[in-house]
Amino acid sequence: MVEGSCLCGKVKYQVEIEPEKVLNCHCQFCRKAHGADYATMAIVDASTLKLSDENGYLKEHQSGAGGYRAFCSECGTRLMNYSPDRVSFFCVSLSTVDTPLDLKPAAHINVGSKANWCEPYEGIPQFSAFPENL
Ligand SMILES: [Zn+2]
Ligand SMILES: [Zn+2]
Repeated sequence: MVEGSCLCGKVKYQVEIEPEKVLNCHCQFCRKAHGADYATMAIVDASTLKLSDENGYLKEHQSGAGGYRAFCSECGTRLMNYSPDRVSFFCVSLSTVDTPLDLKPAAHINVGSKANWCEPYEGIPQFSAFPENL
């Protein structure tokens, strides 16, 4: 179990992370939402998530592919993405994890829509879309 939080600390969470499900996503939605070349996301089992947000700062935006992207409405930190049922697909932004982690992302995904200026680093597999066997 790791602990995570947004930049201002109003939203906190605990969740179980599986290193083989940590991915660098280069899709245009992640790039735009995070304001970054790619987003490192951990696909998690939503039943392991414990959210601490007493004052309701976590807001969600419905974005591409029918999913939701959740962020802290106070500081803007992007924390989570999930399917409408909040169960079948759920991931957290690895950069919001506070617990020291000794892991390496398993793959670059959606490289087919990566930023032209971004050269995904070597040493892990690259997939042009979302790999089916995950
Ligand atoms: Zn915040
Ligand atoms: Zn993405």
